Amino acid sequence: MHTAVIAFGSNLNHPEEQIKQAAQAVARLPEIHSFTLSPLYRTAPVGYLEQDDFINAVALIETDYTASELLYQLQNIEQQFGRQRSFRNAPRTLDLDIIDYACSRYDTPELQLPHPRAHERGFVVHPLAQIAPHYPIGQHGTASELAEKIGTDGITLL
Ligand code: AMP
Repeated sequence: MHTAVIAFGSNLNHPEEQIKQAAQAVARLPEIHSFTLSPLYRTAPVGYLEQDDFINAVALIETDYTASELLYQLQNIEQQFGRQRSFRNAPRTLDLDIIDYACSRYDTPELQLPHPRAHERGFVVHPLAQIAPHYPIGQHGTASELAEKIGTDGITLL
């Protein structure tokens, strides 16, 4: 069994509802044996700014999937929720990322772990700090250290 962290994001089609339903879909996957969802956050968009705010959350899981199997399962769920990949940082119904898998490193085109930008994203480290403050993100520090460093600009607890 392995511990992993998944990030959820949505800014289209009733995003709060999308995140809650996506969380249920992930929690119901057969090889996910424990699932803890963070509180939900409203966050300002990053990169492409002409779009609505996002709703974000993270989940801490225990799973028997390998990292690649987990990515495959999450991409299936993204498809079910009607995600269309139009352009980088575009509005999206549902985005699911693996932030960390068993504190291991992966560097393939399909999967980089820990997620290379997670440590600088308030919408990842703030929710993670709520449920697992001591969780490390690579060599960058723990969730709570990174949350304090990044601050709360553009990030609101729902
Ligand atoms: P995005 O459109 O930003 O969700 O990126 C999706 C692409 O990133 C997919 O092709 C994945 O194979 C790739 N990817 C690389 N590392 C990760 C990761 N840690 N979690 C999710 N997707 C990843």
